[in-house]
Amino acid sequence: MKNCLVVDDSKVIRKVARHILESLDLSVSEAVDGQDALTQCEAAAPDVVLLDWNMPIMSGMEFLQALSSAKMTARPKIIFCTTENGISHIKAAVDAGADEYVMKPFDRETLESKLSIVGII
Ligand SMILES: [Mg+2]
Repeated sequence: MKNCLVVDDSKVIRKVARHILESLDLSVSEAVDGQDALTQCEAAAPDVVLLDWNMPIMSGMEFLQALSSAKMTARPKIIFCTTENGISHIKAAVDAGADEYVMKPFDRETLESKLSIVGII
């Protein structure tokens, strides 16, 4: 079973994402900010990271930058989540190493298609 790390400071978003991802037969871990996510990735790399942009302590972008210099055996795929307001972030995130992006609020169909594009399901 492949693992998805859901990184979001919103408990509601994490819960919604978990529900969708588990229905797609993925195992799910959660991180509350980029620092928490980085620590978890260094301990055991997930197959894919669903990454929020705006978070306290360490943002999605700072996480991407830190991940690129982290010592890891395998690189997770990164799907980052943005809002319509954050559409200008897409190019910056892709340049920083994100593989795909989804717009919030996301639904099952959208997540399923993005996970398929990055080869997770
Ligand atoms: Mg947030």
